[in-house]
Amino acid sequence: MTFERPRRRVERVFLHCSASDDVSLSGDKLVETVRHWHWARGFSNVGYHFLIDKQGAVLPGRGLEKTPAAQKGRNTGTVAICVHGLEDFSQAALDACRNLCAEINEVYDGRVTFHGHCEVSPKTCPVFDYKGLLNLDRFGRMP
Ligand SMILES: [Zn+2]
Repeated sequence: MTFERPRRRVERVFLHCSASDDVSLSGDKLVETVRHWHWARGFSNVGYHFLIDKQGAVLPGRGLEKTPAAQKGRNTGTVAICVHGLEDFSQAALDACRNLCAEINEVYDGRVTFHGHCEVSPKTCPVFDYKGLLNLDRFGRMP
């Protein structure tokens, strides 16, 4: 998986979780299922740019040139990543999330910051310790 920098301006990356531990959802099936959840909420497509299944596969969702529908009122200038899980996050998925974020950080020369959905919403999302996973400083920068 190679992250290609979109033409639109990106300043922040937001992390989410799917709030489901359904192990039958992986690969394209995970993307299609979340796409249907988001259609049901009136979105034009899956709201996230990337979904990560329990096997650690990074799956493309919404095109990177499109603004996500993921953090209500805070979508502009962001990339949205969703890790599949609720209580049980696989190590493969967390490793893939960290690798993807490190790649994005490198593409932007460290000029993007990383955040959880919970920082801009009362939702408990993502449920995993993203600050520890990415070793974020208090501004959301990766080392
Ligand atoms: Zn979220």
